[in-house]
Amino acid sequence: MIKRCPQHGFFRGENCTCGSSGQVLLDETKTEQLGRLVAGGLRHFPGDLGLEMDSRGWVDLTKLGDVVKSRHRWAGKELVVALVTSDPKQRYEISGDRVRARYGHSVDVQLDHAANTLPLLFYGASEEEADRILEIGLKPASQRYVHLSTTPEKAWHVATFRTGNPRVIQAAAAAAQEEGVEMMTVNEDIVISETIPAKFLSILAAKDIPKPKDEQ
Ligand SMILES: [Zn+2]
Repeated sequence: MIKRCPQHGFFRGENCTCGSSGQVLLDETKTEQLGRLVAGGLRHFPGDLGLEMDSRGWVDLTKLGDVVKSRHRWAGKELVVALVTSDPKQRYEISGDRVRARYGHSVDVQLDHAANTLPLLFYGASEEEADRILEIGLKPASQRYVHLSTTPEKAWHVATFRTGNPRVIQAAAAAAQEEGVEMMTVNEDIVISETIPAKFLSILAAKDIPKPKDEQ
């Protein structure tokens, strides 16, 4: 559900940070429908929707508004802006009359986010995946970039959606970047990377992974 606060603009959830219950713009179902369409257009199949994407992933915002309106009569540019700016995962960004996904692309893009500054990054995997990654390196599979977590517990948590017993791989990010591996900051949780050679990877011992309190 997307709401609007008269003071602070678009937000998700029951109340704005100021406490206002705001006005409902889009119910849960329509938020999901619009979210899937925008993700498709900005991450996976812009061409199928008639969108032109430049090499940095940017798409014309007005054109995207027209595209969503042609699929859902209730939708349009304003709701795309509402969806993007209220997104809790900061998946998208707007610059002038352009919009793009910050990460999660399956189409070929060359993103230009700021370089990662964290010395270590983390990747959660199943036991079998982890063995393989330590041998051959960490490569993007279905996505354009590898998505790394900024802390061991975040990596562990992400992997719990795929496996009951996650392993956490540590990447020597600073060392890899020194040797030319491009890594970029997406938000406080995620860093995206080109292929990371195995020599920069190691397994983190279970005792070194602080579990979130509610998972203990
Ligand atoms: Zn507010």
